Parts: sequence; C-alpha cells; structure tokens
Amino acid sequence: MSTKFFMLNSIKAILLGCPGSGKGTLGQRISTFFSIPVLSTGKLLRARFPHEEKDHSSGIDNGMLIEDEKIISILKETLIKKEYSHGVILDGYPRTIRQAKLLDDETKENGTHVVILDVIVDAKIAIKRIVGRFMCSECDSIYNLFFKLPKSNSIILTHDMTVKDLLNGSSLCKCDNCGSETFYNRKDDTEEIALKRYEEYVKNTLPLSEYYKDRRLYFNFDGNNSPQSLYDKVQKILQIRKNTPIH
Ligand SMILES: [Zn+2]
Repeated sequence: MSTKFFMLNSIKAILLGCPGSGKGTLGQRISTFFSIPVLSTGKLLRARFPHEEKDHSSGIDNGMLIEDEKIISILKETLIKKEYSHGVILDGYPRTIRQAKLLDDETKENGTHVVILDVIVDAKIAIKRIVGRFMCSECDSIYNLFFKLPKSNSIILTHDMTVKDLLNGSSLCKCDNCGSETFYNRKDDTEEIALKRYEEYVKNTLPLSEYYKDRRLYFNFDGNNSPQSLYDKVQKILQIRKNTPIH
C-alpha cells in the first residue's frame, strides 16, 4: 500500500461495532469534524458489483459473498487515491479475523498507527435502534420509535407498537426538519434480519476486539448511551492522536 496512506499526523481509523451500534453516524461526524473521508466497504463493493444479490439468509451484513482476496485488492486500489492520502475512516472492514490479518499484511509495521475505534452496545439496544428506525419521506431525517420520535407527535407508545403501526397511522407525527407527515422505513430493518446480522457480528466480528485489544491505538467505547456522548469521547481521542507525532 502506498506510504502516502500512512502519512504522519493524519488519521487512519477502523470502526468496529455491531449493526445498530451507531458507528455509521459516528463515522460521518468524525469525517465532517476532521475533514477525512469515510470509506464504507459495503458501499464500495455494491458499486463494484451492482448485480450481486444480497444474501440475508446468511445474515451477512455486506450481503455479498466476495472473496477476501478480492476485497483487499479493491481496498488497496482505492486507498491509494488522492482523496484518502490525508487519512481515512474504514467502515465495514475488516469484518473477520482473516480480513484483519490480510490488512495487517498490507500495512506491515505502519499498521500500528491505525486507530481502532470499537463501539460496544448491548444486543437489545442495537436491535431496537434498527427495528425502530424510520425516515422522513421528504428530507430523509432519521428518527426512532423508541429513542428519537419527532418532537411533534401524537403517539401513545405501547410495548408492542411497531414502526409499521406508525407508518400505517395517519399523521401521527411531523418531521422536525421539514414538517412532512409521511415517513418510511427500510425493508431490511426487521427484527429477524437484525437478529441474524447481530449473530453474524458475534460470530465473526466480535473476535476482532480480542485480536486488536493489545494494540497501542485500540480504544473501546460504551455505545449504549447517546450518540453525542459517544462522539465526544471519540473526538477527544482523535484530537490527541492528531496532535501527537509518531515516533
Ligand atoms: Zn422531513
């Protein structure tokens, strides 16, 4: 991999966390604050292989069965692009120990300069974040039935209420941002798929916490609380890291 990718005082970070951990939002916020791009391998692979069928039955989050060697070579080609020369936040890679080892092989000793940000969230909360998620049809603002309802709403939340009930109800809420009363959710955001993806994470990706935990730049975070408190902690660590020259 190009040495440019490992320029000093730039931030190279790997985001780890289960689906619903909030790592996607976290990545976007870090990206905006530090002006470094997020490289989502899911998006990258979907762009490269638009005809690959998603395979939810296996619970694989990427939804695609592409060999690790192919993924790492696409990643290498991508990371040498100029836009990533001042840093990058990897989201969705590595996803297994084998992928982490391939990445280590590529980065060699420079790999120790990669910051690992591991967001740990309880399964129950992660799943509620997924099944409760819905968006404004006009402006795509994101809400959650359990954690973040629009301020203007007439919802009487019962323990068995679902997003489907909310979408079927007429004018139960108004988007905070644009006032629209119509919302939608993603078809994949069902409890069944969320559970499968979580199980897949526990089996394949959670062992990465153990794999990386002794690295100097490994940090784990409790992601059960508000996205803001998670972001504040991560931002502080990256700020220190950015201002510390590597010896
Ligand atoms: Zn809206």
